[in-house]
Amino acid sequence: MKKLVILDRDGVINEDSDAYIKSVEEWHPYPTAFSAIARLGAAGWTVAVATNQSGVGRGYYSEDTLAVIHESMRERARLAGGEIARILHCPHRPEVGCECRKPGPGMLLQLQRELDMPSLGESWMVGDSLRDIQAGIAAGCHTALVETGKGQRYIDQVRSAFPSTWICRDLDDFVTRLIGDQITGDQSQS
Ligand SMILES: [Mg+2]
Ligand SMILES: [Zn+2]
Repeated sequence: MKKLVILDRDGVINEDSDAYIKSVEEWHPYPTAFSAIARLGAAGWTVAVATNQSGVGRGYYSEDTLAVIHESMRERARLAGGEIARILHCPHRPEVGCECRKPGPGMLLQLQRELDMPSLGESWMVGDSLRDIQAGIAAGCHTALVETGKGQRYIDQVRSAFPSTWICRDLDDFVTRLIGDQITGDQSQS
């Protein structure tokens, strides 16, 4: 059974920007993001990304530019010894009412289909926004809110609406907690 961690991008892997991230020069990964992704892989987790990129639909940057940013992200993950198996993005403006934009679960369910998983019940969605958590819950995932990016402004809301959601300092903290839990679990079984 594949174990999947689905990451939001902006505010989780890299600094968010209210002005959108329109080029690879404007894309600034957090210092521990790729080592955290590598640690997930080493612990047997498949890592994927599901990101809303309405800046494409708004005409702020092209699909080609986004592809360059994402190739650079995968390359950085590889250099750290990790792997991002799949990156899905929603290019649509919110008013289009598409199936893929979070808080809808569309991208997460697409990952489930593409990775041939019977359910996402053992999988995690990690994001810095309420809509990431809502998408994760709708898809049947475990969920974690990180305090980086926009995360801090959603802590109270997430705590009351989704008490099972982990609140983590950042992606690195999430990974430590997830893998730490696994090790504890393994020890208790032996
Ligand atoms: Mg985000
Ligand atoms: Zn969409």
